[in-house]
Amino acid sequence: MNDKSFNSILLLAILATLIAVFGQQYFPKKRLLAWPNANFISYFYSSNQADGSPAAFWVDQQKNLWRCVYPEDDKSEYFACSFNFLFGTPEQQSPADLSGFTHINLKLNYTGSANKLRIYIRNANPVYYKPEDPNSSKFHALTLHTRDLNKEIQINMDEFFVADWWLGQYDIPRGLSRPEFSRSVSVGIDFVEGQQPGNHDMQIEKIEFVGEWISAERWYLCILAAWMLGIFIYAITKLIQLSQQTKHDVKIINELSSDNQQLKLETDKFRRLSTVDPLTQAYNRFGIDQIVATLMIFNKEKDEHKNAPDFALMIIDIDHFKRINDRRGHDAGDRVLQNISAIISKGIRAQDFLGRWGGEEFIVIMPSTRKEFAIALAEKIRLMIYDTIFEPDNPLSVTASFGVSDKLDEEDFATTFKRADKALYEAKAQGRNCCVTADDNMTL
Ligand code: GH3
Ligand code: MG
Ligand code: MG
Repeated sequence: MNDKSFNSILLLAILATLIAVFGQQYFPKKRLLAWPNANFISYFYSSNQADGSPAAFWVDQQKNLWRCVYPEDDKSEYFACSFNFLFGTPEQQSPADLSGFTHINLKLNYTGSANKLRIYIRNANPVYYKPEDPNSSKFHALTLHTRDLNKEIQINMDEFFVADWWLGQYDIPRGLSRPEFSRSVSVGIDFVEGQQPGNHDMQIEKIEFVGEWISAERWYLCILAAWMLGIFIYAITKLIQLSQQTKHDVKIINELSSDNQQLKLETDKFRRLSTVDPLTQAYNRFGIDQIVATLMIFNKEKDEHKNAPDFALMIIDIDHFKRINDRRGHDAGDRVLQNISAIISKGIRAQDFLGRWGGEEFIVIMPSTRKEFAIALAEKIRLMIYDTIFEPDNPLSVTASFGVSDKLDEEDFATTFKRADKALYEAKAQGRNCCVTADDNMTL
């Protein structure tokens, strides 16, 4: 996911959150039309009139109009006259869960002399409710002024309180004394104050419970949970991306490092190719020049009171090589050159350098070596060549001549070389297959 699409998603999420937070109040409400409702059973609970007929009765049931007739002189201690309905039948005991409702929309039309009426809701929690005693269901009541009626009003569920007489009568502990509507069994209406003898007519147009499908607290919690889930998913995705990126980077680094190694090998190969003679594997002239230049620099930096020359030099020239070529062919000549190179390599020390100076001429550079040692080494190699049988299938004797010198102070390489070359010339003149040391004062 790139930054742009991430920002778009974030913006959308913020927008959705704002809509969810501020739109919550406009969500469709949960509604329960409790009356009129054919599913619920109504009944009157009332005392009798003087003629023995019930004090409460329907005037016009179609219109939900009922009447309460109060006696001229109420001799009874308690005159009951109320309208009630049950959620379900008393036998079935199917209480309604009204706990999710926040208020009631109420439309009651009243005609009569009562100042106040009472609405009550009974809740049957088995903790205190005993089926054999209908009064043991918790009695929540709310008193309304009759002057507020005859129009639709809204009352909050938290306006209901648990009646003192009920708490007292059933000796309810404090923990159970709060209003509760999760198992509501019935709703009732009666008159409580100021009623005069005569008719009290009431038409119940609407008793509707209204609430949220999901409470604001729960809704906000859901929004919070959605954000936390989003952040969690984002973090996990980032973590996976990071680990993949790291894997990819490590792969690239490994590839680069192996490329680098390959390059180094190639460079070494080409450096070697440029300084080494392919036939004999000895250094070529360029290689020897590099070695000499390095030795010169190295010796310049060394202590001035050194007791050995910078290097000694040995030139080796195969005797009558032309003849070998002529008699045995050029390929045999090449093999002799390779063998001679191998013999010299074996004869010299690890610190000495062997080069092919040209044709059938070799050169050995011996760092920090005197000519006395160099001539001894030359003699050893001369014998090694002399003692070797070349071309075993058709044996061939090969000899070589040696000119040796060592570098004098202030002398350059070319001069030291010339003196060795002159010594070689001497060796050839003396009949070949021998070693000659250059004279320090040799005239060139
Ligand atoms: P001398 O004893 O005086 O050194 O005689 P020589 O024959 O060795 O010397 P010369 O300089 O007359 O001949 C050198 C020959 O080496 C000439 C040339 O054909 C041969 N040669 C030079 N380079 C190569 C090579 O790479 N392979 C072969 N097979 N022969 C080579
Ligand atoms: Mg030669
Ligand atoms: Mg030769």
